[in-house]
Amino acid sequence: MTGDLTTLAGRLAAVRAGIDAACHEAGRDPAEVTLLPVSKTFAPEVVAEAASLGLRRFGENKVQEIQLKAAALAAERLEWVVIGHLQTNKAKAVAALASEVQSLDRLDLAVALDKALQAQGRGIDVLVQLKTSHEDSKSGLAPDDLMGFLGELRAFSSLRVRGLMTIAEHSDDEAVVRANFRTVYQCRNRARDAGFELTRLSMGMSGDYALAIAEGSTEVRIGSSIFGARNYKH
Ligand SMILES: *Cc1c(COP(=O)(O)O)cnc(C)c1O
Repeated sequence: MTGDLTTLAGRLAAVRAGIDAACHEAGRDPAEVTLLPVSKTFAPEVVAEAASLGLRRFGENKVQEIQLKAAALAAERLEWVVIGHLQTNKAKAVAALASEVQSLDRLDLAVALDKALQAQGRGIDVLVQLKTSHEDSKSGLAPDDLMGFLGELRAFSSLRVRGLMTIAEHSDDEAVVRANFRTVYQCRNRARDAGFELTRLSMGMSGDYALAIAEGSTEVRIGSSIFGARNYKH
């Protein structure tokens, strides 16, 4: 990697180069892989700087943070993508502000989101989050339950189901991480065979995006490699 990693522009360029290199390595066209910058914990001013570099869509895992940033940056007309575990009582705020939800993992959340979206008269793209790692801290639907869930989601006209998302196990063992991504890829293929039009696979983060691209990811969610180390206040 080249460039000045002390600036946001330099880190963004390095990540883009890394994605291109991973695509090249995997024999894939870089145009097939979208970058979703993950701005969680970073201040609105940082997001504004990212927006000035041409980024328009940002991944966030807390609804309160989206509310804060959407208000502070209203003039920028940015898109907010929910990637974190969602409580059903947040559905109204999500329906008002989010362009997309990648962490749809259960029926009661689909019910709440659809109801709130119907009230707003709008629809959004959603990805179903699959739990592929064994870590208790990670949420998501069990892969075995995917087909049934996709069938149930047909009832919700405001939720446009576009694909799948996962967070791989935090592991130094590449085989474990790859296996998590492969599970999602295979689930997508089975769902397609059953007639569900799933085109998007959101998988890969700063530490594992090259593996995710090798396993068929169409969207990588990158936080720390672009914005720097996160400083959690809790
Ligand atoms: C924080 C987060 C990311 C980005 O993680 P980095 O390791 O900082 O790139 C991606 N996906 C989800 C769901 C996240 O919560």
